[in-house]
Amino acid sequence: MSTKPPLLMLLNQPAFSCLDHIGAHYDLRHEPGPGITAALSGGNGIDAATMDAAPDLKMVALAVVGYDRVDVDHARARGIAVTNTPDVLTDDVADLAIGLMLSVARRLPAQDLYVRQGRWAKEGSPPLARRASGRRIGILGLGRIGQAIADRARPFASEIGYFSRHPRAEGTGYRYFDDPVALAAWSETMIVAVSGGAPTAGLVSRAVIEALGPDGTLINIARGSVVDEDAMVAALVDGRLGAAGLDVFADEPNVPAALLGLDNVVLIPHQGSATRETRQAMADLTLANLAAFFAGKPLLTPI
Ligand code: NAP
Repeated sequence: MSTKPPLLMLLNQPAFSCLDHIGAHYDLRHEPGPGITAALSGGNGIDAATMDAAPDLKMVALAVVGYDRVDVDHARARGIAVTNTPDVLTDDVADLAIGLMLSVARRLPAQDLYVRQGRWAKEGSPPLARRASGRRIGILGLGRIGQAIADRARPFASEIGYFSRHPRAEGTGYRYFDDPVALAAWSETMIVAVSGGAPTAGLVSRAVIEALGPDGTLINIARGSVVDEDAMVAALVDGRLGAAGLDVFADEPNVPAALLGLDNVVLIPHQGSATRETRQAMADLTLANLAAFFAGKPLLTPI
């Protein structure tokens, strides 16, 4: 008989190598069942059926910040606590947003490929890129990550605007928009940083994409679900949307085939928090939440 507490292991991210040794602390179970009080998951979350197949479940530790794949209402109704990993990944995700913005404007992946393919020597300089600086930058969702993006974007922007459901009470010095279409119409680059899930599904609608327009750039580091992906792809193909930098997609790891041939997009395989330092910090926080739960102490970062 193992003396280690059972833990339902739902995490499907091999990139979390820092959690490889979790089996030293917990008796890992890969199927829900009676006697399991805690679960560990990631971006794949946990659905109501899985919770109900674990009748003694009291706590779910997520090794991510987004809980759009967790049936939160069902967890609340069942008295199951959910923790996530806010703050520790904010800097990395904001860094990637700025990196994408620069990469799209200056066409960095295409330029790199141009050198590697030996085209510089054969064909001379590649086509001109666009300026990254001096543009109106709109941020859709000024939460923890959105605010960190705004802080980093200031030296690049002529002005910063943001959309959220209410203007930030403390004041930001940024221009407030109460409607995503209005933000997009004003923005030259729009960066999506809202939470995912049903409430924000399709918030970046066809109308938002049209408003951003042929000279506009869309950056998404939030969730693929926030963007009407079909409308975005069609607009990029037709030139009705200028360019895009995407870390997240509607059906990961599948990326719309039409995007693969476009040179006005930069595509990243959901790497927002994927640095060794941040993944370690996320793992540490997740393990600390689990340890607190099993010690009967207050959880560190409940949602
Ligand atoms: P946060 O501090 O909770 O901020 C969430 C933002 O979303 C807030 O600005 C909030 O606006 C907005 N929002 C929430 N529900 C909304 C709704 N129904 N309609 C409009 N706006 C809504 O979260 P965070 O730490 O900044 O993280 C933001 C998201 O980034 C996460 O949820 C996750 O999906 C994504 N993320 C991606 C990666 C990656 O690898 N690419 C990594 C980490 C996180 P209000 O001010 O109006 O409440």
